[in-house]
Amino acid sequence: MTQAFTTTVVGSFSRPRELIDATKAHSKGELSDEAFEAQLEKATRDTIRGEEEAGLDVITDGEQRRSSFVGFVGDKIPGFKVMHITELNPDAMEILKRNKVQLTYMRAVVTEELKDAVIARDEFEKARRYSKKPFKVTLPAPYLVMWESWHKKHSKEAYPAPEDFGYAYAKFLRKEVLRLRDAGVSFVQIDEPMLGDLTEAGDKPDRYRQVFYELYGQGYRGFKEELKLAVDMLNEVVKGVSGVKIGVHMDRWPNKDSPYFDLGYERFLPELLEVKTSQWVLEYTSQGTGDPAKLVRAFPDGVEIGLGVVSVQNYEVETPEQVVARAERVVGSIEPERIWLNPDCGFAPGMFRTFPREIAFAKLKSMTEAAGILRKKHA
Ligand SMILES: [Zn+2]
Repeated sequence: MTQAFTTTVVGSFSRPRELIDATKAHSKGELSDEAFEAQLEKATRDTIRGEEEAGLDVITDGEQRRSSFVGFVGDKIPGFKVMHITELNPDAMEILKRNKVQLTYMRAVVTEELKDAVIARDEFEKARRYSKKPFKVTLPAPYLVMWESWHKKHSKEAYPAPEDFGYAYAKFLRKEVLRLRDAGVSFVQIDEPMLGDLTEAGDKPDRYRQVFYELYGQGYRGFKEELKLAVDMLNEVVKGVSGVKIGVHMDRWPNKDSPYFDLGYERFLPELLEVKTSQWVLEYTSQGTGDPAKLVRAFPDGVEIGLGVVSVQNYEVETPEQVVARAERVVGSIEPERIWLNPDCGFAPGMFRTFPREIAFAKLKSMTEAAGILRKKHA
């Protein structure tokens, strides 16, 4: 695809009310598998139709079949056990409160050696019948999953060190990337919010690594070491992979009290440039995220930016003109064909995040209208 200002979403989309209710009923045994499957199918179809109507160039299934963007791997890959957060540390609730961090209470923890299994191809095969457009499929990154799922007591027998587990998962992830490519997926996006949050770390860990240390017992290695590990694990996933577009998505939650407010992912240069990805999918609509032009000017030839141009935090629908202005922050620093437009993040990374669907679709519509304006002006 050589079009300028290609539009897509980051991945997840809010679930319809009926699907959330059906999920609860199904988990209590009050709804049959068939009736639940029908709700999953309907939500998938309606999400894809909405994306098509908004005029997106690249489609996702909105992750309607996933409980959360990371936890679902625990349902798919043998070796994980779902545990309540207080089983990881009896003081879990107090730890979350003190660090002002929210996490899902049910956690997928690795307890046995992993086995190869389909992670997302089955979802794609069900979704593809609803659109002829190119599809993006997302997968959680190994560095993220290492932090999210390795516990010093429950995981030690299967994987003595978190890194052993992270690299083992990375190898299975590569097999899935190849399966997705062979099935016809155009774009595989690897989600790495844990690396994104490292923008707030220094000599001390950011609040997420601090919380995971207290809950799981994995220690912070220091800024440079963490960065190197994340980069190396991403490259382990894509080693020798060709024939499919690879993207990496990072979050950015600027914190006014942090010394890193107003700095962005440029804190990860030059190490970030070693990642063998064709696109960085990044958050840039919040205040304090830094200057995207600074970052993209450092990109190697051909590497694209998936620029966050609409917020997933507030319910105010941006006007196309506002979106144009946000995109123009990088116009002139990188060719228009290498600029993709997307929301900052998924609209509902977890099953129960309720972002009104009609507002989310309206934001996508503004984004595609902005792409039309930008193409006339700059392409
Ligand atoms: Zn995100």
